[in-house]
Amino acid sequence: AGSSAVPARVSVQLHPYGQGRKLLLSRDVTALEQAETMRRDFVANVSHEIRTPLTVMAGFIETLQTLPLGEADRTRYLGLMSQQGSRMQTLVSDLLTLSRLEGSPAPGAGEWTPVASFLAQCEQEALSLASVLDKSLDLHFDTTAHHEVSGAPSEWLSAMSNLVSNAVRYTPSGGEVAVAWRVLPDGRGEFSVRDTGPGIAAEHLPRLTERFYRVDRSRSRETGGTGLGMAIVKHVVQRHGAQLRIDSTPGVGSCFAITFPAGRMRPLKRTKDAGSG
Ligand code: ADP
Repeated sequence: AGSSAVPARVSVQLHPYGQGRKLLLSRDVTALEQAETMRRDFVANVSHEIRTPLTVMAGFIETLQTLPLGEADRTRYLGLMSQQGSRMQTLVSDLLTLSRLEGSPAPGAGEWTPVASFLAQCEQEALSLASVLDKSLDLHFDTTAHHEVSGAPSEWLSAMSNLVSNAVRYTPSGGEVAVAWRVLPDGRGEFSVRDTGPGIAAEHLPRLTERFYRVDRSRSRETGGTGLGMAIVKHVVQRHGAQLRIDSTPGVGSCFAITFPAGRMRPLKRTKDAGSG
């Protein structure tokens, strides 16, 4: 359960201040304590996330060393170990991404990248992820977007592809995932990912972008989740002055949308042979 507001705590120090006088220094240490608790929780979470696949791998290695297994079993065990190895690689890579996002200055105007190219890359990733997970999904990608957006392209791609891969991972076979770009009436641009997955109950929504927060731990694990995807999305969105909106109805599906400020988007220059458009 989420912790409610912590009462303010004040640290008071008396400092010598010339000719026998004392200077009273007081400061609110609540924020410091909260930061320290968050840091401790984070280290505990990371350790737990790394320990689980390591324990599984160590178990398999011991089995391979001690039991006279046939070729088929050996192959199966090696496959499972390799899965755990990939899981740790993904976790470390997400951790590095997060730490880079937290430790570097916000991107300036940067490069301009066509939205359609992000959508095309997300589409390729979604197709291969659905095939790896052996899912049959109705995937719609509107790759006709006629705008480009500015900022760090690798960060935008990572935010968009995290939303798309979540939709693919959480939507059961037979469901639908629709990824679209549109210009809102107020001139801002919106990238949205809509799915017919399990949906998310309202009480979870405020915590969804916390590191390692998962609604359904086992479903996240089964599909290779690290619990860091939404935290990455939140950072990218904040760093670019964009906004993240989540609408979800349990049993119906979810819609995750990133709204781009008008200053970060512009129409693509049309080339003469731009086709039907
Ligand atoms: P994970 O790696 O566990 O998916 P994320 O940070 O990407 O971690 O997402 C946090 C949690 O939000 C997930 O564990 C899942 O419970 C929930 N979630 C994210 N996207 C969806 C979605 N499209 N449908 C249902 N639940 C979702």
